[in-house]
Amino acid sequence: MPIYEFRCKSCEKVFEVLFFSISEKREVLCPDCNSDQVEKLMSVFGGTFGGTSSSSCSSCSAPSCTT
Ligand SMILES: [Zn+2]
Repeated sequence: MPIYEFRCKSCEKVFEVLFFSISEKREVLCPDCNSDQVEKLMSVFGGTFGGTSSSSCSSCSAPSCTT
């Protein structure tokens, strides 16, 4: 069963919600303030991100943009 992380846009609370299936859709409420203004974060599992810590400029391709 997948677990997703959510963040509440009202109080910035980050919490995890267990889903019974990947396709399950249900309303997710903040456990702290009951707001439904939550956003799903990247799954903490399986994501092999990174390796390259790029601090380069996003508007150009230079690796060491000083602007
Ligand atoms: Zn909240």
